Amino acid sequence: MAKVLCVLYDDPVDGMPMSYARDDLPVIEGYGDGQTLPTPKAIDFVPGTLLGSVSGELGLRDYLESNGHTLVVTSDKDGPDSEFERELVDADIVISQPFWPAYLTPERIPKAQNLKLALTAGIGSDHVDLQAAIDRNITVAEVTFCNSISVAEHVVMTILDLVRNLVPSHEWAVQGGWNIADCVTRSYDLEGMHVGTVAAGRIGVAVLRRLKPFGTHLHYYDKHRLPLEVEEELDLTYHESPEAMYPFVDVVTLNCPLHPETEEMINDETLKLFKRGAYLVNTARGKLTDRDAVVRALESGQLAGYGGDVWFPQPAPKDHPWRLAPHNAMTPHISGTSLSAQTRYAAGIREILESFFDGTPIRDEYLIVQGGALAGVGAHSYTEGNATGGSEEAEKFKNA
Ligand code: NDP
Repeated sequence: MAKVLCVLYDDPVDGMPMSYARDDLPVIEGYGDGQTLPTPKAIDFVPGTLLGSVSGELGLRDYLESNGHTLVVTSDKDGPDSEFERELVDADIVISQPFWPAYLTPERIPKAQNLKLALTAGIGSDHVDLQAAIDRNITVAEVTFCNSISVAEHVVMTILDLVRNLVPSHEWAVQGGWNIADCVTRSYDLEGMHVGTVAAGRIGVAVLRRLKPFGTHLHYYDKHRLPLEVEEELDLTYHESPEAMYPFVDVVTLNCPLHPETEEMINDETLKLFKRGAYLVNTARGKLTDRDAVVRALESGQLAGYGGDVWFPQPAPKDHPWRLAPHNAMTPHISGTSLSAQTRYAAGIREILESFFDGTPIRDEYLIVQGGALAGVGAHSYTEGNATGGSEEAEKFKNA
């Protein structure tokens, strides 16, 4: 029987919702690339309810306990005295979400002698030290595609938000003002702008597809070039490197995983290559950018705006400079955890657990590490190595 340790974000400050804004979720038949939605044998939760916070328990308790397993759920994840670190010692399975990551660092993994499976309820397993997981033969898996479209929608929203100057204009309305000139001195049309994505995977391509009807010119860089028919359909300009693309675009959106190759790819040097007044949107991972270089670029006007939902560490310390940086459209890490996305990744985690306990293969598209090597989707998108430090810094939020 297994001990499952699940780290989830805190419940709403007013408690769990008694009712929801909508009564149902739209039916999604499948993902764009033909992948099927999660296929667990059953679910024990109501789709469209809050599953990603502590009381939601990803809808797993009945399933696990009725099969004799133990489920421990906590949001207390950072620092040596955290519940996570105490419970980790004899946990067989750890489940965590990128929005509130339980950092499985090289220091923590040796303390988890029973650990066999590290699951990400969402996409992006950079909070797990993949090298340590490889060395210890721990399987790492995530729910590929579960929230890719959720994030792509957030990217499009943030681009429009920044380019149109939405948030400051809303603030004028809230304050009782009618300051049209104040609102529009930084407001442009997206139509005609050049938009480039670093990475054209599930999210990157979904962003490009959604931006096409806006009359934008679309650019991309990826390690592997897209099929010609996709390039033609979307009228894409391919660049040989991110650096080659930056001078040509008005908006840059980052949609690649964080791994040693991409860490701090946006820094003082690469920002110099951007057009003055470019917008940068990052919903991939905070560590893709040099935090202070972004602030400097916003203050100097090299960037006209920065937005997204990913920070480092998470939760971001209360004095994180992006909170108050000029022209930012940052949110907490929410893009991939809409109620719609939670329903999909809770079902996906259930599917993976069923496979694990039944001894049947975990879908290849969910696998990041297996059998002491990068595997499945991980072998395609990640490189070996460590980009996961952060638990100590995240603890500052708890103690502030
Ligand atoms: P995919 O695996 O579909 O796409 C990732 C793409 O990044 C692949 O096309 C891959 O290239 C490419 N890539 C890998 N390394 C590089 C590199 N060095 N430079 C440029 N491109 C590179 O993943 P998704 O699109 O679903 O997700 C992308 C990332 O978004 C995730 O890794 C995660 O970090 C983040 N994310 C954020 C969420 C949020 O809530 N904010 C939710 C979900 C994901 P190729 O395959 O051609 O080798």
